[in-house]
Order: sequence, then structure tokens, then C-alpha cells
Amino acid sequence: MATVSCPRCHQSVDSQAVTCPHCRTTLKAFGHPGIPLHRATGKEYLCDSCTYHADDTCNFPQRPYAKECTLYQNIEESKLQLQQQRENTSFVATVKSWVERNSSLLLLLSLVFVCLVIAVFR
Ligand code: SF4
Ligand SMILES: [Zn+2]
Repeated sequence: MATVSCPRCHQSVDSQAVTCPHCRTTLKAFGHPGIPLHRATGKEYLCDSCTYHADDTCNFPQRPYAKECTLYQNIEESKLQLQQQRENTSFVATVKSWVERNSSLLLLLSLVFVCLVIAVFR
């Protein structure tokens, strides 16, 4: 059984462990069979652009010099996803607050609409 050291408490941990048994840190880089293996294309190491290297939750022994890794997650991509999530929520918030501020206008418009419908289908 291979052991690695926990990035937080530096105790030795089974390399397949999902969380550190000593300090409960979530270890994202545990081995998973059957998931895609990422490969470094150029001279750069995968870890340099990896989310788990940046947030210090990787306990793979090849870190920070991994050229092949199953758990590599591009940090630019995760940043983009986060940004998109934030933009989406702010758009929803803008619509919500507009609806709240203009609720009487919306009520009036819907009344006009109902009157029109009645007038047309009478
Ligand atoms: S590329 Fe792999 S080894 Fe390197 S930090 Fe990311 S998960 Fe860990
Ligand atoms: Zn630990």
C-alpha cells in the first residue's frame, strides 16, 4: 500500500484515501481507475496550471512535476466556470430586483393585457 504525506498535516496517508484520517482534509487527488489521463503537451508540468496544485489539495506523489495525471483540472477553466456562475446569478438578481421595483407597472400591464384579451374574444 503506497503512502503519501498529507499536504496539511504532513502525516502519512494511504495514496487512495479520499480524506486525511488525521486532519480530515479532503484529498482530491486519489486514484480512480477508468477516468481520462491528462498529458502535458509541452515542457510545462500539468501541476503548474492545475486547480488542485493552486488550492493545495493534491496529494499525488508526482506533484508538482506531473506530466501525466488523471485528476488534472485546468485552473483557467475552473476560473471561467466560476465567473460564468457569478455572472448568471448577478443577471438573475438584476431581473429580480427590476421586477420588484417595477411590480406596480407590471401589474398595470397585466391588467391592460387581460382587458385586451377580454375585448378581443368577447
Ligand atoms: S496535475 Fe495532478 S499531480 Fe499535479 S497538482 Fe494537479 S492533480 Fe496534483
Ligand atoms: Zn492531514
